[in-house]
Amino acid sequence: MDFRRTAAEPWFFTGSDTGFYEIEYRNGWEIRQMSRKVIIAGNWKMNKTGSEGRALVEALLKEVASFSESEVDIVVCPPFTTLAQVAPVLAGTKVKLGAQNVHWADNGAFTGEVSAPMLKEAGVEYVIIGHSERRQYFGETDETVNRRLQAALKAALKPIVCIGESLEEREGGRTEAVLRQQIRGGFAGLDAAAMAGVVVAYEPVWAIGTGRTATPEMAEETHAFIRSELAALFGAECAAAVRIQYGGSMKAANARELVAQPDIDGGLIGGAALEAAGFAKLISEALAR
Ligand code: PEP
Repeated sequence: MDFRRTAAEPWFFTGSDTGFYEIEYRNGWEIRQMSRKVIIAGNWKMNKTGSEGRALVEALLKEVASFSESEVDIVVCPPFTTLAQVAPVLAGTKVKLGAQNVHWADNGAFTGEVSAPMLKEAGVEYVIIGHSERRQYFGETDETVNRRLQAALKAALKPIVCIGESLEEREGGRTEAVLRQQIRGGFAGLDAAAMAGVVVAYEPVWAIGTGRTATPEMAEETHAFIRSELAALFGAECAAAVRIQYGGSMKAANARELVAQPDIDGGLIGGAALEAAGFAKLISEALAR
């Protein structure tokens, strides 16, 4: 089936065994648009002790009671020490547990690190990798991001891999080159099947914790670029399946217009995830897109 529109319009619909895609050509690459499930993840950073974390998720479960799991994946990523108290509260619920980092080795002499098998046994399902704060303050590189990603995939953890440019890089016109390098380095060695299960979080560093958000148009332009890079590396089908979150001062007031953009599939949320009612409001705004 081929519902091709006029030549002036680049979009057309086509049918396949697995459903309908909307196809566009960007920079010579075939880009398929398909409906992707929204994913909203809260990155608690170094906030919330075990008891505080437990109280937060207990309140959050009440707030999100009416949301449908078929519409949205909700994830919270507490600090390592808080996982043990939060995991039993979330077990079997619609709010999934994530961690904020993972080491590439299963065990060994790596003081201060935590491995994928340790996270799995703690009840963790998702893991954030390569957050800009880890790149900025703890020497994370595209190579270590890639090693952590490979370890997460081997353990069947669902990775949320962060990429994003600094203000200096954006102002210097280097956003696309920086993202391209992070994508090629961070996702090296993955095949399309593995890549399709990775969540990418585009987080412009200048927007994180600053109250400065990218405009929906600016964010969409960058998300579309990221998807076209994924299409070039992994093929159109994989690029259409990968969920790309926006992160950087997302809150209830701007979530709807950001997630309404065709290539923005949710958010990675810092500050606004630390309070249950506000986080739930943000999720409902995203779903109202
Ligand atoms: C983050 O830490 O990933 C983040 C996006 O933080 P904030 O929402 O506070 O900007």
